[in-house]
Amino acid sequence: MLNLVLFGPPGAGKGTQSEKLIAKYNLVHISTGDIFRAHISNQTELGKQVSQIIAEGNLVPDSITIAMLEEEIKQNPQAKGFIFDGFPRTVAQAEALDAFLIANGTAITGVVALDVTEEVLTERIAKRQEISGRADDAADKLKKRIEEYFGKTIHVLPYYEAQGKLTKVNGIGEIETIFADLSAVIDGYNA
Ligand code: ADP
Repeated sequence: MLNLVLFGPPGAGKGTQSEKLIAKYNLVHISTGDIFRAHISNQTELGKQVSQIIAEGNLVPDSITIAMLEEEIKQNPQAKGFIFDGFPRTVAQAEALDAFLIANGTAITGVVALDVTEEVLTERIAKRQEISGRADDAADKLKKRIEEYFGKTIHVLPYYEAQGKLTKVNGIGEIETIFADLSAVIDGYNA
């Protein structure tokens, strides 16, 4: 299996690149943000539980997120591999993911972190909000999300670095250039 974590701050381009990568490598895309948003729009119990948390730009508690993620993996028993996008966002999530994959006879192949400056992130998300209308893309909520990223999520990087699984890729530039760089990293795993 090829299990990839696509890592980066809000607005790094994880969603855009994931779409291209799943097509090229025949992987299942698991975006915890997308799954949460689907629960919210379908008004499920889980959706009701998390909608306020997400709208404010806070992280959903690990217990909820991890249970949802494991459920999502179980629903795809035929998958050749997964792209995890927006997960893990805390070290506890990273540890839970490792334990779950190991229990299922697999592991994280590699982690690719998209490197983008804060200035570019803010600019991209301001643009996205005009189109998406996502409440959590509003300036004050975005500030909270960036704080969550630098407060909690950034610590996931040394966790994977210690396992020798981390590669950084420049996330600024043409979509196709970034995609080619990501593909080169992934092709290196197969080699
Ligand atoms: P972004 O576009 O900022 O990368 P996502 O679409 O991945 O954001 O996620 C949107 C929101 O969903 C997050 O701000 C957070 O509230 C919640 N969320 C998504 N993934 C996780 C996670 N792994 N742990 C906790 N909360 C999460």
